[in-house]
Amino acid sequence: MENKCLWLFGLSGAGKTTLATALAEKLPTPKVKILDGDVLRQGINKNLGFSEEDRFESVRRAAEIARLFIEEGYWVIVALITPLEAMRQSSRQILGEHYIEIFVNTPLEICEQRDPKGLYAKAATNEIRNFTGKTAPFENPAITDIVIFTENNTVEACCEQILGFLG
Ligand code: ADP
Repeated sequence: MENKCLWLFGLSGAGKTTLATALAEKLPTPKVKILDGDVLRQGINKNLGFSEEDRFESVRRAAEIARLFIEEGYWVIVALITPLEAMRQSSRQILGEHYIEIFVNTPLEICEQRDPKGLYAKAATNEIRNFTGKTAPFENPAITDIVIFTENNTVEACCEQILGFLG
């Protein structure tokens, strides 16, 4: 199977990081690199904020880093909110046929209830601005490669769906 970049996108708390970690274990190779938006923000994206311009730049960097790993034969799993259609189009352009786009489609109310990182609580008190789904936009995709519903499915079942798509 040719190596791919599995690009998981969706709201904060949707399940991107959880699925990325679980999927990495299940791919048929140890050559897997996870690029997690939160982790990138601690390093290469330290100088970026959450304006639309900075989010575009963070997506561009993730896609370019993914491309470098792809060229070395790695599978790459990206876990990044990637809120706008235009951002997803630009990653598709950078990664070409290697790009598989996966919408982690979890309703905002569920993400807020889960609030695994306490970020929705901070957004509610305005401690965080430009928070996706609340004070910054998220565009649902018109077309995407795979849609995952985490609300009523286990992590295991979601992984199976993705692996099934890969064939
Ligand atoms: P994100 O990376 O999208 O911000 P996280 O993966 O950090 O989201 O958090 C998702 C939360 O939802 C975790 O607490 C996880 O255990 C829970 N969860 C419940 N069901 C699922 C599922 N099917 N897939 C992924 N996460 C799930």
